[in-house]
Amino acid sequence: MSADSQRISRRAFVTGTSSFAAFHSLGRILPLPPLTGALQTDSRLSQTVVADKGFASVRKIGNGLYATISDPSKGFQTICNGGFLAGKDSALLLEGFMSPDGAAFQMDALRMVSQVPVKAALDTHYHYDHSTGNSFYGVNHVPLWAHAAVARRIMESYGAMQGAEKSAVLAPLEAGVRDAKTDLQKQHAQGNIGMLTNIFNVVNGSVLALPNRPLDPTKLPITIDLGGLTAQIESFAGHSGTDLIVRIPEQNVVYTGDLLFSGVYPYCFDQQATISGWRATLRTFSSWDKDTLFVPGHGQICGQEGVTALANIFDDIAEQAEKMHKAGVPVQEAADLYVVPEKFKNFSVGPWGFTIGPAITKLYAEWGAK
Ligand SMILES: [Zn+2]
Repeated sequence: MSADSQRISRRAFVTGTSSFAAFHSLGRILPLPPLTGALQTDSRLSQTVVADKGFASVRKIGNGLYATISDPSKGFQTICNGGFLAGKDSALLLEGFMSPDGAAFQMDALRMVSQVPVKAALDTHYHYDHSTGNSFYGVNHVPLWAHAAVARRIMESYGAMQGAEKSAVLAPLEAGVRDAKTDLQKQHAQGNIGMLTNIFNVVNGSVLALPNRPLDPTKLPITIDLGGLTAQIESFAGHSGTDLIVRIPEQNVVYTGDLLFSGVYPYCFDQQATISGWRATLRTFSSWDKDTLFVPGHGQICGQEGVTALANIFDDIAEQAEKMHKAGVPVQEAADLYVVPEKFKNFSVGPWGFTIGPAITKLYAEWGAK
């Protein structure tokens, strides 16, 4: 660990104003919008919250079902959404969040509504904002479930950053700034460095903790009985190669992890992200009941309109990319040239190289283009 990273404790990162500013420089992080449309009168959804700390709030969304919804414009303890399922016999917690404080907040909220033993916690995938708070579960002897590849991916991606020199980790992205041919490319490249710097700081300020119950995706779905409440754990392609969802078919409720972003452009940077796979997953989601309630990985709770919106964003990225591809624009240029259309102006856009850029690069690759 470098001297520099040793000085940055997790708490300092979470509450430090400079880091706060850094996160906000990463693009357009909009405040969490309120519930809209049919969700305001949906009988499954409580209009009052169980707990609210600004950075996240917990709301009842069904019989024994709760959603933890983050608002990163107010703090970074959780960053991603999660939730919990509380049956008559046991409970299942979702996500390790970005800090043990985030996981603790959710556990406290569970204890405000139920005293049943916790059967397990589950990371929907390995990404840091869903897993660097995992140590909370280790300390509290809560079994941690995840896709079988999550432990390895955490170690490869984040274990490798612990003890590494920050300058060495950032070097490949600094080349992007140096080699930028346009102001737009430079601006995007700088955003990418800001994002990776944040990840490096979070990871080096965290005690990484790994799932101790790997779920083999070839053996999914499995059904979990919590006592009068059954949930299915299922595996789908798209966002990270390790994505699991938790579905409660009896109540038409789905916790999607990052296979669904609500009001946020999709993060497509993962080496195992697949745009065609992700679009197929969204088609499956849209085939489910029209009254399905979705708890997305990021953004507000939504209905099928949220799935449609993300599918439309993928369609728009693919349409613009295809035009450039047909016009002979090389992929290195095309990746920066997508324009967010007016109709999606209310969607948050994260750092380009983690969101839209790689979506275009992967589409070109799927088309067999250079
Ligand atoms: Zn993710």
